[in-house]
Amino acid sequence: MNKPGPILVIDIGGTKLAAGVTERGGRLITWSQVPTLRDSDGERLWDALESLLAAVLKTAKVDDLAELSGIGCGCGGPMEWPAGLVSPLNIPAWRDFPLRERLAARFAVGGIPVRVHNDAVCMAAGEHWRGAGRGSRNVLGMVVSTGVGGGLILDNHLIDGASGNAGHIGHVVVDPDDGALCVCGGVGCLEGIARGPALTAWAQQQGWRPDQPDVTGKDLSGDAAQGHGIAQAALRRAGRALGIAIASATNLCDLEVVPIGGGLSQAGALLFDPLQEALAAHTKLDFARQVRAVPAALGQHAGLVGAGALIAAADQYWTGD
Ligand SMILES: [Zn+2]
Repeated sequence: MNKPGPILVIDIGGTKLAAGVTERGGRLITWSQVPTLRDSDGERLWDALESLLAAVLKTAKVDDLAELSGIGCGCGGPMEWPAGLVSPLNIPAWRDFPLRERLAARFAVGGIPVRVHNDAVCMAAGEHWRGAGRGSRNVLGMVVSTGVGGGLILDNHLIDGASGNAGHIGHVVVDPDDGALCVCGGVGCLEGIARGPALTAWAQQQGWRPDQPDVTGKDLSGDAAQGHGIAQAALRRAGRALGIAIASATNLCDLEVVPIGGGLSQAGALLFDPLQEALAAHTKLDFARQVRAVPAALGQHAGLVGAGALIAAADQYWTGD
């Protein structure tokens, strides 16, 4: 079914719930966000999401839910896909929460599609569809923030893998001897080294702001920009790990473009220079040398635009039921 109406789009993360309404071409008509109530129970969190969705529908002047042509949603993983039972690591209130079913029951009229996928996958779809990966057939979209996530598009189609989890670049091993423990339980994963909290923890061990428990990746980037040596070294360490992981992914998948978004990607050259250096050092084959790692183009809207792509460009981005 390919109905022409607007799409309700949602992006659920550990720090914010974002939602909007898009045209089928991907343009956001309106969007809004509220903080994620992390200590709340599951039903209160659902209520907050429901209110946010009602508000954006009102602003977009969608008075009748029957006008919508679909609902697309990105959510932090892990999840049971495509069933949309979500258990986001950063949202303890939701464990096996039936997000897809709840959205369908409350907002879907007349059998319109409701589709839920990993938030990093939606970001990758958005960047491929309407962002920095537009026009390229082989793209790895990455998010570097509290975690390191990704989504893989090969030959113009999103790759889901056996369980919807393909593209988990954060758990590609970049340095098994480094000893950095990852939240997944592994050692030497990219995420264990390059996620924001791992970076700040490493920098603090080296003597950067040692007595401040609630420092963030943003503080670290800010200090690095001011010339703080340890903060700069932390970003170099992360950039190098990212470059190695991207090189491996490129050699495996023959990638063309790797758009990188998320809070930490805002650090600019302090992160991207060591990243490009490591990427060049580990892509020696002619085909792999062509890859470009670039800042994401859609910024904070990539996830919402990609959630819309699950509906409007389903032939490319949705293989679930
Ligand atoms: Zn891991």
